[in-house]
Amino acid sequence: MIPDTPVPSASAMGGLTPDDLPAYVYDLASLDGHAAAVRAALPGIELYYAVKANPDPELLRVLARHLDGFEVSSGGELAHVRGLFPGAPVSLGGPGKTDAELFGDVTRLHVESPGELRRLLASGRPADVLLRVNLYVPVAGASLAMGGGATPFGMDPGGIAECVALLAGQDTVRLRGIHAHLASGLDAPALLELAAAVLEYARTLGLSEINLGGGMAVSYADPDARFDWRCYGEGLARLRRPGEVLRIEPGRALTVYCGRYVTRVIDVKRVHGELFAVVAGGTHHLRTPATKGHSQPLAALPPGEPVTIVGQLCTPKDVLAHRVPVSLAVGDVVQFTMAGAYAWNISHHDFLMHPKPGFHYLSPEAAGQEIGGVGRR
Ligand SMILES: *Cc1c(COP(=O)(O)O)cnc(C)c1O
Repeated sequence: MIPDTPVPSASAMGGLTPDDLPAYVYDLASLDGHAAAVRAALPGIELYYAVKANPDPELLRVLARHLDGFEVSSGGELAHVRGLFPGAPVSLGGPGKTDAELFGDVTRLHVESPGELRRLLASGRPADVLLRVNLYVPVAGASLAMGGGATPFGMDPGGIAECVALLAGQDTVRLRGIHAHLASGLDAPALLELAAAVLEYARTLGLSEINLGGGMAVSYADPDARFDWRCYGEGLARLRRPGEVLRIEPGRALTVYCGRYVTRVIDVKRVHGELFAVVAGGTHHLRTPATKGHSQPLAALPPGEPVTIVGQLCTPKDVLAHRVPVSLAVGDVVQFTMAGAYAWNISHHDFLMHPKPGFHYLSPEAAGQEIGGVGRR
């Protein structure tokens, strides 16, 4: 479907010329407003950002004003965040930690296996840990499941019990609580069901610090549908008991809306009756539609015959949007929305050695003035 999100006018290309395309345009003003609204909906809850969704420093600087800390998934992300925000609280998680990652300087380490914990204990290094649990909680509608079955993420309750036993009788490695990131693509009521189950489990262990993960739903089919942060915040406030520290670490739902991938049509052709528009760039810049199997949403265009929008790669997988009813001609500018998370940074940039896109930032200070605020990297 064609979303009727506000049409970024030609000027909302930020004064980019056709030669500047393809390009990513990040609206830092809208990111600032969105993050402030999310923060306000979650009183008393610690808000971390999952850096893997988009580690762009310009975005991190805006987000940092609204966050309690960062969640990182590798030594690379840790060094990146430490370089930008030396004193910020950081949690590090992820399966398969190297020694450098396991022994890194972090506020919280999310332990993913008894093997990791044994290595940590053997090192003699102090650490504050959360044990990552993979609990079986039946929830409908998750788009990606990290838990609730045999996956490499976290530990089942048997693994957690093994860790609790390993931690007994020493105080170098301090058990602070439980971490759970069980699914992604969930709406607020479903995430609250998960939260209730995780909290109940943590309480049976006598643990009062609980990281409930990320996974807040975004809809590429309906870009105007937003995760209900107010409902989620109110629900968490009801679930939380005095003395408990609740933390969340969203990624996608924080940054997805602030980015657009802007390009232009190089060729229009009909093959065996189907209409194709070939744009500059492609899924090596914006891999999201190929990985998620969706049509990337578009800023409004005039209606027309269904056209499949493809990139320049020599693979049939290089499809950005499938049979969208819009009118496109050579030279037209196409703006893909919802390209602020798991977009550029998950893409296979070097395949075919096409040029990289430009990066442009509409600064918070420039909110409302469409052209002036664009900063070039
Ligand atoms: C990826 C990830 C997140 C963020 O997930 P989103 O779906 O982007 O909100 C949070 N926590 C962990 C452990 C993750 O791996």
